Amino acid sequence: MSKIELNSLTFDELQDFITTIDEKKYRAEQLYSFIHKNYGKEIEDITVFSKDLRDKLNRIGKLNNIEIFKRFDSKVDDTKKYLFLLEDDNIIEGVAMDYKHGLTACISTQVGCRMGCSFCASTKEGLIRMLNPSEMANQIYAMEEDLDKQISNIVLMGSGEPLDNYDNTIKFLDIIHHKKGHNISYRNITLSTCGLVPKIYELADEQIPITLSISLHSPFDEIRKTMIPIAKKYSIEEIMNACKYYYNKTNRRITMEYTLVKGVNDRKQDLKQLKTILKGLNCHVNLIPLNPIEEFKEQRPSKKSIERFKTALSIANIPATVRKEMGGDINASCGQLRRRFTNKSKNFFQ
Ligand code: SAH
Repeated sequence: MSKIELNSLTFDELQDFITTIDEKKYRAEQLYSFIHKNYGKEIEDITVFSKDLRDKLNRIGKLNNIEIFKRFDSKVDDTKKYLFLLEDDNIIEGVAMDYKHGLTACISTQVGCRMGCSFCASTKEGLIRMLNPSEMANQIYAMEEDLDKQISNIVLMGSGEPLDNYDNTIKFLDIIHHKKGHNISYRNITLSTCGLVPKIYELADEQIPITLSISLHSPFDEIRKTMIPIAKKYSIEEIMNACKYYYNKTNRRITMEYTLVKGVNDRKQDLKQLKTILKGLNCHVNLIPLNPIEEFKEQRPSKKSIERFKTALSIANIPATVRKEMGGDINASCGQLRRRFTNKSKNFFQ
């Protein structure tokens, strides 16, 4: 019988587990805080538990751990990029970004990704496997322990499509938010999706007040389909309806991510159509200058035309910002670092 991964259980699940093994309920609280507050890694180290109880837990359960495989420090800002080693030797990446409002962690939700977006390095080898809730939380804990600093904001914008790993992602959110553990406010968490419409409705019905961020990238279905294959399944209109539903359920302003690609989605007609489709939706547009990758031969527009695009949106009463480039010198963009590591044709450490 395989062992239960105790650090992937939500607080309620851990309580159920503890009572089913005939232990007192308060043991769940002690165990949960040991794992999710105090960075506990081995059942053996829970000294408030008797040796008998630790042995019992060790027989039935285990804690999943990750290791920092390598850290890359940006020379241009305080961004730190991590490669983490999982127990099955898979490698994932995460980023710690120091903003004025606090330390933000960008974490992965899958090893690889099956969405196939043309400009994204995370998806070039397909999906390898889903991450467990513990493996998402452990990225946060590992960065905090390494930097000796609390993370205040989390963005699910690393490798993977969080809504394609729905149940584990929801559990992770519950775990990281719980007051007996890390207690991170839902309002400080952003989930980015390429637009899995049924899952957006499901997420809205959970009524978790996190920020939903949509990878829109074009206001035209035909162009969007060339960038994001899932756009062949779900139209922009369906996404917009799902966003309205999400807003009505959670009262949270939606973010629209828009990776600017020269000549593809930065034209006058793109701007005009973008204004049309976003009209009446309480949203904010986050413009991302394309980070060129080897497999996608397009370029980012000039700084000047990015600014023009932003200003035109603002004039139309659509708040827009250009995403500040963090750690540009350390491949700090969506799967680029892991890709470099796994791409055997390159000498990684050069
Ligand atoms: N699967 C989620 C999270 C992806 S990463 C999603 O699709 O939203 C977060 C954002 O970075 C997405 O909007 C993604 O489309 C964008 N992105 C990926 N690769 C990029 C690149 N090379 N340049 C600019 N933006 C990129």
